[in-house]
Amino acid sequence: MTTRSYRPTRAEIAPGAIRRNVERIGVLVAPAAVCAVVKGDGYGHGIVTAASAALEGGATWLGVALAEEAFVLRDAGFTVPVLLLSEPVAAAWGDLVAGDIDVAVYSQAAIDAAQSAAASAGRVAALHLKVDTGMHRVGCAPGDAIGLAHAVHESPRSRLAGLFTHFATADDPASMYPAIQLERYRQVDDALADAGIGGYLRHAANSAGAIAVAGARFDLVRCGIACYGIAPSPALQGRVELEPALRLVSAVSHVKRLGGGEPVSYGCRFVTERETTVITVPIGYADGLPRSLGLNGGYVLVGGRRRPVVGTVTMDQLMVDAGDLPVAVGDEVVLLGTQGDDEIDANEMAAREGSIGYEIVTRLGPRVPRVTVGPN
Ligand SMILES: *Cc1c(COP(=O)(O)O)cnc(C)c1O
Repeated sequence: MTTRSYRPTRAEIAPGAIRRNVERIGVLVAPAAVCAVVKGDGYGHGIVTAASAALEGGATWLGVALAEEAFVLRDAGFTVPVLLLSEPVAAAWGDLVAGDIDVAVYSQAAIDAAQSAAASAGRVAALHLKVDTGMHRVGCAPGDAIGLAHAVHESPRSRLAGLFTHFATADDPASMYPAIQLERYRQVDDALADAGIGGYLRHAANSAGAIAVAGARFDLVRCGIACYGIAPSPALQGRVELEPALRLVSAVSHVKRLGGGEPVSYGCRFVTERETTVITVPIGYADGLPRSLGLNGGYVLVGGRRRPVVGTVTMDQLMVDAGDLPVAVGDEVVLLGTQGDDEIDANEMAAREGSIGYEIVTRLGPRVPRVTVGPN
């Protein structure tokens, strides 16, 4: 959105961190290949930056949620395999087949649409059959998988390029559900082998599955959040070394000294206990921050210290109780990332909001410039 940039608020993106995260995931899951999932504008990091860095780190596939995202990648010049993770609407098939995009299917209608688009284009559609083993979002019932696989396999207009599924609870190491889902997936895979259908890629794991469910890595893992250096859940923190690739920073825009008993922000929901310095930072919920960050005990890093956000976050600005810290207009304020010896990561911010790190980074709005930083 922003062509000119004056406000000090920005998201610093470190492609080197993405590259190293993907390298580490690659080592962990080898010999499985890595599909770097770059949907949601590369989880807020910028789809092109994320895709380039992931490929440098050894990813050989890119995964997207929307046909639109697949074409952003093709238009940017990426020629690697791109997998669209859910069925598109019928109107998108012609472009997807022409663009050589691998596409998830789980209905006869989508297979028909893919094959007729391929026939018109004189091409063969590469299709990945998605089996719903228990997530119940998208996918075919296991009992329908063999018939659909046959429909893809037997037509000269399509190729069964993959058989895949998706976990509901792989981020919870205590959950028994991934094993149940995996067993359902294996039954379909075995039945296809019995039917003489093979040669397709097997894939099941998202980041959490790749990290925590060793039996789920198969030929390919589809990793999003871990590529960006964010653990899929606090429980999986530290299972593989990850470096956050996004640092959300701003700078102090206003400083004031307030006496005790003074309210701050809309609703006067925070009141100073004693004389203190309250600073203003030019970032708010229109940039994607949670409005309740201050009310839920959130912090920023300023002057090398962790200081509380106070009162309601407003649309464009928030306030911080700096105490007696010497602060001045222009001092750096870190909302996500490191400053000095301290760090606020996306999962920490998310936990206060009853959310997950994924939501924090993907919701950062177009008003926040993404600035690429080295070193690589
Ligand atoms: C988003 C998504 C992924 C990536 O999930 P992460 O938890 O970010 O690794 C993988 N597979 C599918 C089907 C997805 O929708």
